Amino acid sequence: MKFSTAAIHVGQEPDELTGAVTVPLYQTSTYAQEEIGKHKGWEYARTQNPTRSRWETCLAEMEGGLAAFAFGSGSAAVDAVMRLLNAGDHVIMAEDMYGGTYRLASKVLTRFGLTFSYVDMRNLDNIRAAVQPNTKMIYTETPTNPMMTITDLRGVAAISQEIGAVMVVDNTFASPYFQRPLQLGADIVVHSATKYLGGHSDLVHGIVATRHQHLADDLTFLQNAVGAVPGPLECWLCLRSAKTLHVRMDRHAANAQRIAEWLEQHPSVNAVHYPGLPSHPQHDLAKSQMSGFSGMISVELGSLAKAVQVTKNLKLFCLAESLGGVESLVCHPVSMTHGSVPVEQREKLGITEGLIRLSVGIEDVEDLIEDLANALMH
Ligand SMILES: *Cc1c(COP(=O)(O)O)cnc(C)c1O
Repeated sequence: MKFSTAAIHVGQEPDELTGAVTVPLYQTSTYAQEEIGKHKGWEYARTQNPTRSRWETCLAEMEGGLAAFAFGSGSAAVDAVMRLLNAGDHVIMAEDMYGGTYRLASKVLTRFGLTFSYVDMRNLDNIRAAVQPNTKMIYTETPTNPMMTITDLRGVAAISQEIGAVMVVDNTFASPYFQRPLQLGADIVVHSATKYLGGHSDLVHGIVATRHQHLADDLTFLQNAVGAVPGPLECWLCLRSAKTLHVRMDRHAANAQRIAEWLEQHPSVNAVHYPGLPSHPQHDLAKSQMSGFSGMISVELGSLAKAVQVTKNLKLFCLAESLGGVESLVCHPVSMTHGSVPVEQREKLGITEGLIRLSVGIEDVEDLIEDLANALMH
């Protein structure tokens, strides 16, 4: 079955009881049991919820995995993956991770005996050099936020297989429509479904998918034992969003490509970071592992004053954190999403005061370009 058909049909068979075409919202905490020891397979809603199960089935298929697990947020999903490890284990992480993942690793998980090395994953030799006898996980994110660097997923998979480590990919920026890490050798994929999977800026949600039965068993246990589960409404909304993921992503990417090309020609713009541009230093690598380049662009305007002016004058691009919704957003990483990253580290990564990040929505692209043109002119 092709992607768009799966997104609309898998896990979404009409309801057996009523024939309802849309998966019902099972807003319940518990289930009646016929007699002691006899029930319909549903006992308590932290453990199982039919709406959640249907969404997990759908997402597992979209990622080409065996199973998926829903969580109350992307951060809770990352935390669940980390709980696969034991005190004393070592993790190699990308140095330009999502800020919240870096915070979870450096401020919380180190207190429980995990150790982390943060490396520039553009060069696979850096990963090899960071391997220790106790390295149990390689954790990547591609494209990264906000510099849109690409990690060679096939290359990382070869290293993790060699050393027997679990390879995890945060696939939030690409979505399973444009990138399917499990098929390139990754063991686990995580998402902040708050972003493209939800797609309408109306929920917070996370999900983990895997292609291995033993990891699926461990995640089933952790999801129930730790209990960071989402409510059924979020799962229902994600299923609603799954049906349009392919059309939304196609439009996000087409709009972003047009806008990135237009910005690159603009005299007030110093640099444009978008994996779909031939000028992106890893454009060929992006092409080899993604089927499209998604809707995120970073733009170097040269100064804080220019960033303030542009974000203030934009009318359609709303100044806000988050990304991946149908409406266009703009953010200023230094003062918003990356405020907690030390200055030297930030500057090393290229996250300057003049950098703004666009989450290109699915509005009419001419209107978006006009908005940017006006804001850049003032
Ligand atoms: C937003 C985000 C997260 C965290 O997800 P939440 O749903 O906000 O907890 C993790 N990774 C990436 C790449 C993100 O953009």
